[in-house]
Amino acid sequence: MSIRITIDGNEIITQDGATLVDVAAENGIYIPTLCHLKGKPCLGTCRICSVRVNGNVMAACTVPVSDGLEVEVDEPEVSDMRKALVEFLFVEGNHNCPSCEKSGRCDLQALGCELGMMVSRFPYRFPVRIRDHAAKRIWLERDRCIFCQRCVQFIRDRETSRKIFSIKDRGTHASIEIDIELADKMPPEQIREAAELCPVGCIIEKGVGYNDPIGRRKYEIKSIRERALERKRK
Ligand code: SF4
Ligand code: SF4
Repeated sequence: MSIRITIDGNEIITQDGATLVDVAAENGIYIPTLCHLKGKPCLGTCRICSVRVNGNVMAACTVPVSDGLEVEVDEPEVSDMRKALVEFLFVEGNHNCPSCEKSGRCDLQALGCELGMMVSRFPYRFPVRIRDHAAKRIWLERDRCIFCQRCVQFIRDRETSRKIFSIKDRGTHASIEIDIELADKMPPEQIREAAELCPVGCIIEKGVGYNDPIGRRKYEIKSIRERALERKRK
């Protein structure tokens, strides 16, 4: 059923129940995301897509649109809230971009640039997180994990559907874990899928590092905003 909503005062005709973050992108309005993947079940873990819906702050990937919805994206307070969430992710881990294999291809780094972040307003926590390199072909650089849960939900053992990645503990003690036995059974293309799916440089394929030259890396060719709008229109 066709319905009308407004985003930043622009009237949009769309389908009842469609996901707000996708409706916005289909109409050329960029709402940043880190955990959301079009066509996959909503995770709602990063909250980077926070917008105001009928006056309340909500994660746009969790909102099915309905007639008469009034949405504010480009509004100073909620824009700053999104930027603060990105800044918070940088201080919660240890992100040394110049030496990171994912630099230039990392969603978090690209989002920091997109939102004009120069430095975090929050104090850096410098957590101690032990990296895991026990799997034959996967290097888990825990310092960079943002706990989006993409790998946990969408990368499964192909025979049994068992989870290969999991999150242990909560809050400051949380850590991303890998089932070594299942990880060592992953075919090469699934390892590549996991490394690509990870929005940061936490899941790294061993033996593959800085393969794109500086200046020709993903987000140096096209910004995260442009890519998101392109992808969502398809
Ligand atoms: S994961 Fe992204 S933000 Fe973190 S160090 Fe690597 S490039 Fe920088
Ligand atoms: S390892 Fe990557 S995909 Fe998995 S939860 Fe951490 S950031 Fe997300």
